[in-house]
Order: sequence, then C-alpha cells, then structure tokens
Amino acid sequence: MKDWTFCPRCGDRTRLAGEGEDTHAECPACGFTKYDNPLPTTVGLILDGDRILLLRREHEPRKGSWDTVGGFLAGAETAEENLVREGLEEIGCELRNLRFAGSYSSVYGDTGLKTIGLAFTCELPPDAEIVLSEENSEYAWFPLAERPPLAFADCEAAAAALTSRTGSA
Ligand SMILES: [Zn+2]
Repeated sequence: MKDWTFCPRCGDRTRLAGEGEDTHAECPACGFTKYDNPLPTTVGLILDGDRILLLRREHEPRKGSWDTVGGFLAGAETAEENLVREGLEEIGCELRNLRFAGSYSSVYGDTGLKTIGLAFTCELPPDAEIVLSEENSEYAWFPLAERPPLAFADCEAAAAALTSRTGSA
C-alpha cells in the first residue's frame, strides 16, 4: 500500500488508514479509496493419474523455476475462462475437467503485489500435443510426491494440498 502516495484520480496526496488486513489508502481531497485487494490468478494443476504437468519459467520473476499453467485474470473473464485461455496460450491445449481445488495467497516475485491463486485440478484432452509458448523453456510430468519446489507460494501450497489429499506423499 505504501506505493499509493498520490491519488490516481485527483493527484493529491493520500493517507494510509486502517490496520493490518484493513489497511487502505484514502484521498482526503476527493474521497478516492484504494483497498489492499489481492490480484486474482489461476493455478492449473494438470493431472494424469498421480502425475502433474509442470513448466519451467523462461522469464522473471522466478526464471528457471518450475511452475503451473495459469495467469492473471483480465477484464470480465472468470477463473475457469482464464485457465482455459492460459492453457491454450502456454501449452496449446484445451484444458478440461476443471475442478476447483482451493484458493491460496501469494506475492508475485519481488513486486510486493499480493495475489490470490484460484486453483483447479484439470486434464489434457486424450490426443493433446503440448506446444510451449516462449513463456516456458521446457515441460515435464512429475509424480506428485516427487515434484520439484514450485515458483510461487500459491501454486506450491495448492500442489502440496493436493498431494496430501490424494495420499501420494
Ligand atoms: Zn483524490
């Protein structure tokens, strides 16, 4: 919240109000208020039996780390629409059998931006052929219980919860 020093509506100086989770910036001049809401993202836990599909990030933040398919929601799209769009963009496959698997908070790299990852288990179509975008350098299937650590706290927590639920660990 400390970045919200000036009001984006009228340009006057804002002040911080509230405490803890309720901290927000408000503009005394025009009444504009910026709450500390997280940015919604999707976490696609693509499964094939007890294996999970992971992608290696080609860009910062967390370049070189393993990650799940997913991204930031845009405009009026739903989390399900976003995840299907991200699947088409990142691996060229239409994800199916989406099932909500919980929400997990995180911070995006060192930007300080708080996110809320909406996790779904899902599958590839039977005849799927994975085609990576330039966002990732490689992909691999890992047994859930033997996967590498993931790039962000939300996908890591979502995958860990899934592993403990399925008893694979
Ligand atoms: Zn203002």
